[in-house]
Amino acid sequence: MRAVVCRNAEFDVVDRPEPVPGRGQVRLRVLRCGICGSDLHARRGSDAWADLAVRTGYDRFARTSQPIIFGHEFSGEVIEHGPGCRQTASTGTPVVALPLLRSDGAIDTIGLSTHAPGAYADQLLVQESLMMPVPGGLSPEVAALTEPIAVAWHAVRRGDVGKRTVAIVVGCGPIGLGVILALKAKGVRTVVASDYSTGRRALARACGADLVIDPASDSPFTAVTRRGQLVDTPSALELVVGTRERLERLPVGWWHLWRLGEALGALPKRPVIFECVGVPGVIESIIEGAPMFSRVVVVGVVVGPDQITPAMAINKEIELRFAYAYSPLEFRDALHMLAGGEIDPRPLITGTVGLDGVEAAFAALSDPEAHAKILIDPASPAVRPT
Ligand SMILES: [Zn+2]
Repeated sequence: MRAVVCRNAEFDVVDRPEPVPGRGQVRLRVLRCGICGSDLHARRGSDAWADLAVRTGYDRFARTSQPIIFGHEFSGEVIEHGPGCRQTASTGTPVVALPLLRSDGAIDTIGLSTHAPGAYADQLLVQESLMMPVPGGLSPEVAALTEPIAVAWHAVRRGDVGKRTVAIVVGCGPIGLGVILALKAKGVRTVVASDYSTGRRALARACGADLVIDPASDSPFTAVTRRGQLVDTPSALELVVGTRERLERLPVGWWHLWRLGEALGALPKRPVIFECVGVPGVIESIIEGAPMFSRVVVVGVVVGPDQITPAMAINKEIELRFAYAYSPLEFRDALHMLAGGEIDPRPLITGTVGLDGVEAAFAALSDPEAHAKILIDPASPAVRPT
C-alpha cells in the first residue's frame, strides 16, 4: 500500500506492506482523511508535544526524527478483521473510528504515534470496539469530519451553553467553524463569530453564525449588549447596589427575594466564549475584552507557555475551562448529527488531494483565505487541492 511518511518535517510517499490486524483490530481501506491543524503543528513541532505528553505519563508520542504517518480524521471501509473480533460490521461496510489503537499492552493515538500509523495512506488499522458503521447515505467526505465535529461538540458541552446564552466564537478555522455548527445544532439563538480573515468570516456565515465580526474594526464581546451581560465594573456594581435598593421597597425580607432570584438563575448572565485560535496571547486578550462573569472554553492549543493576568480574570470573575477531545458517546452523537442533517459541515471542505498532494495541501492551508479543511482521497491523482 501507499502511505505518506513524515520525518524531520519532510513528506515522502512510500510503498509499505499492508498492515496486519492484531487482536480486536480491523484493517480499513481509507476513503477520506482530513488534514488537521494538529498535523500542521506536529510536522515541525512534535518534539515539544512529545515532551508535554511525557509529563502526563504518555511516552509514545511521535518525535520529529521518527517516521510518522499522520491522519486521525478518517472514514473508511472494512477489509479484514483480526483475531477475536466480533465482526458486527462485515467486509465493505463504511465506517469511522475513534483514533485510538490498543497494541503491545498500550493505547496509542492513531496518526500521532509511530505505534499507530494514521490515515494518510491507502489502509490503516483501527480498534473494532471504537469503530462505528456510517449510517446509510452519509458520504465518505462528510463522515470523515466526524472526528473534528466531535471535538466541537465536546467543547460546546463543556461550555454548558443554553439556547438563550450568548455564545462568542473567537477564531473561525476548522475548529471554530465546527463549534459554530455545533452551537446552532444545539439551538443556541445568538452565535457571534470573529476572525480577521474575510474568507473565514464568509465560512462562519455559511455555518450559521448570527453575527460575524471583523475584530480589526469591531469587538465581538460588545457586539451583543442587550442580553443582560455586564460589560464593566460600574455596571456590575450598579447591578448589586441597584438590586439591593429595589428589593428594599418590597414588604418581604430582601434576602429571601435575593435567594429566590439566585435559585431561579436570575443573575449574573454568563456569555460563553470559545477560544478557537491557539496562539499565545489570545486567552489574555479574551480575559481583557470579555464581559464580566464570562465563561471561556479554551479549544485552541498553545503547546508552550502563555501569559495571563490573573487579577484581571478575578476582577471580572472569568471562568476558564479547557476542552480536550471527546467521549465515544460524543463521537457517536457527532456521527449521527451529521447523518441526520442537524450538522452540515460541507462549507468547511474547501479541497481534496491525493497522497501525492499532501505537501501542496499543507502549503495551501497556511493561507486562511484559501482553505479551511482539505481532505485526502488516497484514490485521487490530484497533486494540489481541488
Ligand atoms: Zn484533529
